Amino acid sequence: MPSSLCMLTAARDLTDGDIHAVIIGHDIGSLAEQVAMTGVDAVHVIDHVDFEHYRVLPYTRAVESAIDTAGASLILMATTSMSRDLAPRLAARRDAMMATDCLTVELQGDAIAVTRSMYAAKCLGEISLPVGTLRILSIRGTAYPAPASSAATPAPITPLDVTLSDTDQHIVFREIVPSDEDEQNLADADIIVSGGRSLESEENFSILYDLAHRLGGAVGATRAAVDAGYQPQSHQVGLTGNVVAPQLYIACGIDGAIQHLAGMRGSKVIVAINTKAAAPIFGVATYGCVADLFEMVPLINEACQSLDGKPVLQ
Ligand SMILES: Cc1cc2nc3c(=O)[nH]c(=O)nc-3n(C[C@H](O)[C@H](O)[C@H](O)COP(=O)(O)OP(=O)(O)OC[C@H]3O[C@@H](n4cnc5c(N)ncnc54)[C@H](O)[C@@H]3O)c2cc1C
Repeated sequence: MPSSLCMLTAARDLTDGDIHAVIIGHDIGSLAEQVAMTGVDAVHVIDHVDFEHYRVLPYTRAVESAIDTAGASLILMATTSMSRDLAPRLAARRDAMMATDCLTVELQGDAIAVTRSMYAAKCLGEISLPVGTLRILSIRGTAYPAPASSAATPAPITPLDVTLSDTDQHIVFREIVPSDEDEQNLADADIIVSGGRSLESEENFSILYDLAHRLGGAVGATRAAVDAGYQPQSHQVGLTGNVVAPQLYIACGIDGAIQHLAGMRGSKVIVAINTKAAAPIFGVATYGCVADLFEMVPLINEACQSLDGKPVLQ
């Protein structure tokens, strides 16, 4: 939800027209009331047990129903594993134009110009989506702030009934296996402390957790660290993991392979700690520190002690 709220800010940059929010799930009345106070013009709610857990076919049907009700010409979604699944299916169904994982979006006349990273972040692509057919964009949630103020009056909330076909019900939900229930979701984190193979063990990652908890952030990892079993796959950042763009990314003992950069180079401030001055991570870092992470990370943690309880980012 926090990254979806940021879509409202992106939408305000793209239109003077009405902005409608679509909420899909089960037992989501209070969520709808919260969203109605964010400054949107209308809220469409699809609230049924069939939508309790994400399944691409029912959710596609639900968003289609909202598109038809609202007469929408532009759909914005945050870049998440859900939108990676949903947006292309929706675009194919509606014969729509689509650009995924956008870093910036802006209006140029009637067209929407977007910047998105391509070929494992080796280059940035600039794409223009002309007005005409439906346009669907997924945007990195942390690329835009959440709306600052709450509305004086709530937007109208409209329940939508969605009829699912037998085909829509083909995928059956079985079970969710939770992991790291106490840890912050990487996609929503403003601060990420990430570690690589050089951490050498799962236990050693505790120094990164100590710092992340102190700063109110989450812990990420390279694929090498994940493959070595130091961290779960859900923490992997990169081409084949999570794509993140936090306010602050602290890369500890990470070489900076192109596949890792593909997942984090959109971060606002990047701090790199590495013993090797020639490590490619320094090429994207805002601040670089040639040092041993086992010495440096505890020092930063100690220096941040006075921040306990206070926000790090203003
Ligand atoms: C198809 C494909 C997809 C991939 N997808 C991903 C992905 O999604 N995410 C990802 O991360 N990788 C991905 N990779 C792997 C990627 O190519 C790299 O192998 C990986 O990112 C390297 O991880 P690393 O930086 O932890 O390890 P290494 O390359 O081993 O680098 C370790 C770094 O730590 C430094 N170091 C060592 N000791 C210390 C110390 N004590 N203090 C400070 N620094 C120290 C070293 O100087 C070095 O720079 C993918 C590869 C392929 C082929």
